[in-house]
Amino acid sequence: MRFEDSREFAASLDQADPLARYREQFNFPLFRDGRAPVYLVGNSLGLQPKLAAQYVEEELGKWKDHAVGGFFHPDRPWLTCARSCTAGLAELTGAIASEVVAMNTLTVNLHLLMASFYRPTNERYKIVIESQAFPSDRYAAASQIRMQGYDTDVGLLEWTPRNGETRLHIEDLAALLEAHGDTVALLLLPGVQYYTGQVIDMAAVCELGRKHRCAVGLDLAHAIGNVELALHDWAPDFAAWCSYKYLNAGPGAIGGAFVAEKHCNPENLRQLHGWWGHDESTRFKMAKSFTPAKGAELWQMSTPPVLSLAPVVASLQIFQEVGLAALREKSKKLTAYVAWLIATRFGERIGSITPEDARGCQLSLVVKDKSINGKALFDRLCKLNVTPDWREPDVIRIAPAPLYNSFGDAFEFAERLDLALSQSTS
Ligand SMILES: *Cc1c(COP(=O)(O)O)cnc(C)c1O
Repeated sequence: MRFEDSREFAASLDQADPLARYREQFNFPLFRDGRAPVYLVGNSLGLQPKLAAQYVEEELGKWKDHAVGGFFHPDRPWLTCARSCTAGLAELTGAIASEVVAMNTLTVNLHLLMASFYRPTNERYKIVIESQAFPSDRYAAASQIRMQGYDTDVGLLEWTPRNGETRLHIEDLAALLEAHGDTVALLLLPGVQYYTGQVIDMAAVCELGRKHRCAVGLDLAHAIGNVELALHDWAPDFAAWCSYKYLNAGPGAIGGAFVAEKHCNPENLRQLHGWWGHDESTRFKMAKSFTPAKGAELWQMSTPPVLSLAPVVASLQIFQEVGLAALREKSKKLTAYVAWLIATRFGERIGSITPEDARGCQLSLVVKDKSINGKALFDRLCKLNVTPDWREPDVIRIAPAPLYNSFGDAFEFAERLDLALSQSTS
């Protein structure tokens, strides 16, 4: 589509946007110095849906008025509240319902799932991560290797971009596995790379895992609620995600996990057990023996944290109403508009390391003009009530979220970037 660099044009896109009305279902941060917020870090912490606040209030009300009766309350009984997320999570991840469960937080889930699916032997104990892996994933993988008694220096293999590039090429992962595949126990890789915003070819990663008989775990922190996923068909062994980024469920909200259907028959699976993974129908008989629940719910351990689940339920309800296809359609247009505005206005000075042919919402901007200090520019943007985020050494990430960001936001970002740049060079 042809874009124009004007406020009127941005307004006309908003007028024609079937999802525009969702913007008012979210709480935005405050005005500062008379400037409306331009919030562009839905990839870091999504805005608060008004429905989330309502659902948390309702849970507090149940606790206040019914105390332990809340477990059996007719609306979202605490006993099964995690299950209120199942249909929504299955939809967003392209899984069948029995493959997904809302539980814990992301790094915790990575560990629990690695306890089952990282099964090192002396011949095959390595874990492949990408060289720019999110620190928590790197720490988690390294500590699993160490816990099993292997050497992290040898045990951690990195899929690395080519010299002078930031993009990960699937051919390079294939080559790494051709060379070392028979020593690799697990591929632990992201769906969307958090720093560059590159969408990884997850189907190809899963295929390579099967070819080389390595388990595959996907970290979907930056993928869920952002891009289309087809976990059931791709069939990684496991996946995990958090719910506070594109899913807008608030800081530390309950995350989720996927376990491939073929693993949902618990015989001979190594597994850490808790009473919430016990078959629900007999859980409260408090037997000494453990009867496994079916599907991914088997990995649950504890009483679900109701207050941190309520915003997830609310958020997924919005996603289900909108539908990922419609959301993605807007997202492509919105991100393309921001990218076009930046290229048109500032192409000489500002570039992006996010691949145009493999991206979701996010653009990772870099200052090309070496006379401009990237961090100072970022600080100026923040003063103008723009919220991007800064990633060392030189990246400004922005992620227009199609549920609540508008084309007007995109235009306003360009305006304030213009102002911040003029301040940088003056
Ligand atoms: C955000 C993010 C995390 C954060 O993990 P928590 O356990 O939720 O704090 C981990 N890994 C990746 C790739 C992330 O993007």
